[in-house]
Amino acid sequence: MSALVRSRYDWTREELAELLDGQPRYRVDQVWEGLYEHGTEPETWSNVPKAVRARVAEHLQPALATAAESVSDDGETVKWLWTLADGHQVETVLMHYPDRTTVCVSSQAGCAMACSFCATGQAGFDRHLTTGEIVEQVVLARRRSAEAGKRLSNVVFMGMGEPFANYDRTWEAVHRIHDDLGLGARHLTVSTVGVVPGIRRLAQADLPVNLAVSLHLANDAERDVLVPINKRYPLDVLAEACADYIDATHRRLSFEWALIDGVNDTERHARELADYARPLRAHVNLIPLNPTPGYAVRGTPPDRVRAFADRLDDLGINATIRRTRGTDIDAACGQLRASHGEPGSTPVATPTRR
Ligand code: SAH
Repeated sequence: MSALVRSRYDWTREELAELLDGQPRYRVDQVWEGLYEHGTEPETWSNVPKAVRARVAEHLQPALATAAESVSDDGETVKWLWTLADGHQVETVLMHYPDRTTVCVSSQAGCAMACSFCATGQAGFDRHLTTGEIVEQVVLARRRSAEAGKRLSNVVFMGMGEPFANYDRTWEAVHRIHDDLGLGARHLTVSTVGVVPGIRRLAQADLPVNLAVSLHLANDAERDVLVPINKRYPLDVLAEACADYIDATHRRLSFEWALIDGVNDTERHARELADYARPLRAHVNLIPLNPTPGYAVRGTPPDRVRAFADRLDDLGINATIRRTRGTDIDAACGQLRASHGEPGSTPVATPTRR
């Protein structure tokens, strides 16, 4: 990977203090407050001298330029396509619910995991995101939420990429979001396809964030095909890591299960899932498969999604059906692929830097 560009939210407080050397000490706090508590542009910080604002603006360049913005679900879902400094693109999705506002952030440009039913996996891997590129997605989503009179309450690492393939930068971003943006650890969720070393590291980590594992199948023969990383970390190895994680943290684990017509939604699949989830006391999130260009099989129809959930319930497994958001703007789970010109989007002709 080529050297990553350091952007506004990659700067540490110490580095900022060095940049502002000669200024009174409280200046660093004011700038930090402007960046994190307010999450606004330097030119609006009226308590900071103009020359300092100019210096900050010059050195702490934003990472994300808007390439397109799409709105769906009556304004309750917003998707951004961002262009990064080196031209790669990523997406972020903001979702307002009656009881919370959640942003779904990307941890990589593209993804190397190659799950066949996921649009990001189909498009392949570009590069890891920096901590600053991850944090800025949250800052901008929070700014937009505030404009809509809502408070951003949750962050899920369920956008493009595999967070545990970019563990260090992702974890630093988690810390910034927690320490400096002030979101509680219980409101942060990291989702993995099952990268076992990441689960093991998270078990020892210093913030009790939530863990979701994208399971989708509970037998190796079929999971090997749909989720290729299963060949490296097969189900028994994954289960052991999940069990150790629960022992170490006493937190509840959840499994994601995208219901795919005839592929993982039969009676046998429900039983396999129940047998796998039961000893781990895991909660199951059922996501009706969203359509993607590279995968022909459809999602399970709604009546059978309901039946599958009921069946899990009979088998003693807690399951909820996740309401799909932003399907019409390709903003739903598995649809992120940094594509241009999707219906409903407003492409911005020249990428604009704020
Ligand atoms: N790589 C991490 C983070 C991505 S989260 C992970 O796999 O967990 C994105 C979630 O959407 C994952 O649970 C993924 O399996 C799921 N997903 C992927 N493609 C999907 C599709 N077409 N329909 C519904 N869910 C999908």
